Amino acid sequence: MRFSYSKLQCFRACPKQFEFRYLLKPPVPSQEPIQQFVGKTVHETLESLFLNVWDGKSLQWAEVVSFYEQQWNAGFHEGIQTDSSRNSEAFFQQGRSCLEYFFSKALPFRWGKIRGVEQRIYFPLTESAGMQGVIDLLVETGPNRFEIHDYKTLQAPRTQEELDADEQLAIYQIGIESLFPGAEVTLVWHFLAAQADGRSSRTREQLDSLRRRLVEETALIRKTAIFSAQKGPACECCSYKPVCPAWNPNVPRQLTLSAFEE
Ligand code: SF4
Repeated sequence: MRFSYSKLQCFRACPKQFEFRYLLKPPVPSQEPIQQFVGKTVHETLESLFLNVWDGKSLQWAEVVSFYEQQWNAGFHEGIQTDSSRNSEAFFQQGRSCLEYFFSKALPFRWGKIRGVEQRIYFPLTESAGMQGVIDLLVETGPNRFEIHDYKTLQAPRTQEELDADEQLAIYQIGIESLFPGAEVTLVWHFLAAQADGRSSRTREQLDSLRRRLVEETALIRKTAIFSAQKGPACECCSYKPVCPAWNPNVPRQLTLSAFEE
């Protein structure tokens, strides 16, 4: 089974949501918080921007913002949950400001040589389980030296302590090291709305310890027979609330896919 940082996060927040999302996949109307939609659309736009840079093309700001607008209009759907304090136009403009900031910060591009845009990585943990992920931007800054860049669209900047403990980019680092043995890797976050950056690195001991934890945690998930519902903040935008036993006393606690096919 292939795991990812998001799958682990989902299981930690609520095992039942993990079961719904990745195993049972019941047909439910899709719901998407608008903050997530802004993040997705900004990422798609930056993907297009950096693919062009990688190809040696220079894009004008007007082309970038036009692409963003097209992606926004094409992707907007009924299930997007807007925030009561702001309408969707305000969110559109916030995403646009994030892009404008990053466009002027990153271009002309002098951070190094682009080696991957939305770069997929995979590494095995055991014979039957592995980790996968997608790196927003991978830059080679020197011989066998890399930077893993990650964009956080609307998130507030994190403290250095939080960045030093972050698992997501450290998992990506293990993936990069499996492709480039002995690579020197720096982890870089861009908090676009706050116009702030963060950097961190990991020691060999930290990466080995993380790998051991991943082996243990993925083994635990694979052994799980009963995925318990855990009411909490994750319920707020959980698409599976209508079929969740924690919110619907008449729904059996143990569901199988056939329950949704009747
Ligand atoms: S509604 Fe809450 S308890 Fe139920 S699956 Fe979703 S996150 Fe878990």
